[in-house]
Amino acid sequence: MIHIENMTKIYRMGKVEVRALDGVSIDIEEGEFVAITGPSGSGKSTFMHLLGCLDTPTSGTYILNGSEVSKLRQDKLAEIRNKEIGFVFQEFNLLPRLTALENVELPLIYRGMPVHERRQRAMDALEKVGLANRLNHRPTEMSGGQQQRVAIARALVGDPNIILADEPTGNLDSRSAHEVMDMLKDLNSAGRTVILITHDMSIASEAKRIVRILDGRILSDEVVS
Ligand code: ATP
Ligand code: MG
Repeated sequence: MIHIENMTKIYRMGKVEVRALDGVSIDIEEGEFVAITGPSGSGKSTFMHLLGCLDTPTSGTYILNGSEVSKLRQDKLAEIRNKEIGFVFQEFNLLPRLTALENVELPLIYRGMPVHERRQRAMDALEKVGLANRLNHRPTEMSGGQQQRVAIARALVGDPNIILADEPTGNLDSRSAHEVMDMLKDLNSAGRTVILITHDMSIASEAKRIVRILDGRILSDEVVS
C-alpha cells in the first residue's frame, strides 16, 4: 500500500537548512498497525506530513496504492488525501463554532455529498465512537477524550483506507488515552491501516509494528507479538 524509498525532507529557512528526514525507506502493507516513535525533533511529524500527502519530500519516492505521489501538485495531492487518508491530531483540530455533528460532516461537504446523506453518515460515525448522545455539543462542551473521539469520527467518515494519527493521546489522561487506543485497534481489526505517531513507548507498544526514528533516520523496525 505504501512504498517509500530514500525519502529526504530538508526545510530551508534563509541560510539555515534542517534535514528533518534523511533517506527513509519503508513499506507498509494494507491492514498493518504501525507505531512510529522517537524523541522530540526526530522527524515524526515531518514523516507524518509526507505520509499523509500534506507535504512533498525534497527527494525520494513515495508510492501510495500504486501511484507515485511525491511529485504531484498541491491540488492533486489534496484529492488523494481526501480519498485515502483520515487524520487525527494531538490538538483535535475541531472547529470551535461547529457542533460535533457539523465537524464530522465537514470532509463530506468538501466532497459535495448531499446534505441528508452526509448527515446520516456523520451520525453513524459518531455512534461508532460512542457519541450518539453528543451530536449537538460544541468542542468546549465536551471533555478532551470526547473531542478526540469526534476527531476520530471525522477521520472515519470518508471511509479512508489509512488512518494517520499524530500523538492522538498526547493531550489525554490515561483512561481516555486507552479508549482512543482501543478505538484505533478496533478500526485496525476492521481492516483499516493505522499509522500512529507517538513519543510514548507505552502507547507505541500497543501497535503490531514499531518503527523507531532518530535524527530523521529509521533506527529500528520490529514486528511485535
Ligand atoms: P515532536 O515530538 O517534538 O513533535 P517531531 O519528531 O515530530 O518532534 P518534527 O516536527 O518532524 O519532529 O521536526 C523535525 C526537525 O525538523 C526539527 O529539528 C524541527 O525543528 C524541524 N522542522 C520541523 N518543521 C519545520 C518547518 N516547517 N520549518 C523548518 N524546520 C522544521
Ligand atoms: Mg511532532
